[in-house]
Amino acid sequence: MSDLIIIGGGPGGYVAAIRAAQLKKSVTLIEKEPQLGGTCLRVGCIPSKALLESSHMYESAQHHMAARGVVVGKLTLDLATMLQHKESVVRTLAGGIDGLMKKNKITRILGTAKVTAPGRVTVETKDGTQEVAGDHIIIATGSVPSTLPGLELDGDRIGTSTEALCYPEVPKHLIVIGAGVIGLELGTVWRRLGAKVTVLEYLDRILPGMDTEIVNEARKIFEKQGIEFRLGCKVTGAKVVKKVCEVSIDGGEVIKADRVLVAVGRKANSQNLGLENVGVQLDKRGFIVVDKHLMTTAPGIQAVGDVIGGAMLAHKAEEEGVAAVEHIFTGYGHVNYDAIPGVVYTEPEIASVGFTEDTLIQQGRKYRKGSFPFMANGRAKASGTTDGKVKILADAETDRVLGVHIIGAHAGELIAECTAAIEFGASSEDIARTCHAHPTLAEAVKEAALAVDGRVLHM
Ligand code: NAD
Repeated sequence: MSDLIIIGGGPGGYVAAIRAAQLKKSVTLIEKEPQLGGTCLRVGCIPSKALLESSHMYESAQHHMAARGVVVGKLTLDLATMLQHKESVVRTLAGGIDGLMKKNKITRILGTAKVTAPGRVTVETKDGTQEVAGDHIIIATGSVPSTLPGLELDGDRIGTSTEALCYPEVPKHLIVIGAGVIGLELGTVWRRLGAKVTVLEYLDRILPGMDTEIVNEARKIFEKQGIEFRLGCKVTGAKVVKKVCEVSIDGGEVIKADRVLVAVGRKANSQNLGLENVGVQLDKRGFIVVDKHLMTTAPGIQAVGDVIGGAMLAHKAEEEGVAAVEHIFTGYGHVNYDAIPGVVYTEPEIASVGFTEDTLIQQGRKYRKGSFPFMANGRAKASGTTDGKVKILADAETDRVLGVHIIGAHAGELIAECTAAIEFGASSEDIARTCHAHPTLAEAVKEAALAVDGRVLHM
């Protein structure tokens, strides 16, 4: 009998397991894949970042380094090695999580779990069925890619992000369905490696939910880089005919390509878990319903991460894993959803935290805004990464920082300071008066904070 059973070994589940172990609780972690780390580590964030870094190096050597005096001889792409490197990164990190489980004395079971009654779980393993009992259960089973009616995914030429992480050759023409985070990140990888990339998006904008001003700037940059966007374009079907993908769009047009990436969102992985046995309620879209303590509608069962909806982000799942465990075993535990950063790992990166300007306008909130372009930042000039800007939104009366949106090189690193500012309830004046090292890209954050009060220094 364990204190806690966790179903799912992704960032939500395995981090919850470590936190419970730190609190001296006995934990059983059940995961159906041999590697821990979930979608994020196996077929998501980590392998895509390995490919983004490698493809960035290739593109730099091909197009940008000569202008800086670094002349490369004959350049060739060794895609097989690039893919092997990605796999080795995943293997190393998965091994690291195995080590963390051992160090924390967490019991692992490799198999598929089903909840049969409160505190009771059966696991189908390769050696048969195993019964597990525990005082509490946390469900952290994540999400799976969504698709659309009419798309005939063959798991090869027409596939999801999982396939797009291991195309064996660079597609001549890649069609991406959906201009969300996955479509843009993986579209960027294959564009850099030489593919013609066409993104078909249903809405009249890319990256829904992100700050419109920043996203419009991003679209122009991506177009300059060579990605073709067809906005307001509803895909109605896709199939492979003699190794050629044919994608149909509303109106009857058919576009041909040699590969199709379907990136139209993800859905909760909440089926076949036996949740109906114990009264865990799902919403209309299949997400597990939880309260502010991440409690489901069944006593003794909590849920965290993608399976409960909200931002589908590994770090949000981790925060929830910790909060759920702390709530059970210490009585407190909290996630500040206003301070969860989001990063799109394109070039330039796009990062944001807090409210978008669109939301503040919708809510009729009075705010002040300060922006600073990387064009006027010394470090960005020196590195040749002058695209983009920092935008800070602060409450018009209190000056409290409400949102920060950055497009630019290393935006994903710069957003950490802004997240801390929001978490601590800082004002834009607090950021403006904080000394930032020179020359760094972070100075653009300080300048944007100064700009909120009309005191920008270097422009
Ligand atoms: P998404 O929801 O971000 O974007 C899907 C896009 O597909 C939307 O723009 C939508 O309008 C479009 N679409 C839907 N139906 C369509 C149709 N018939 N024709 C054309 N376009 C259509 O989903 P995603 O990019 O698949 O990502 C899934 C989840 O994973 C998201 O929640 C995302 O935040 C998360 N994720 C995050 C990161 C990151 O933080 N860096 C990376 C990868 C994935």
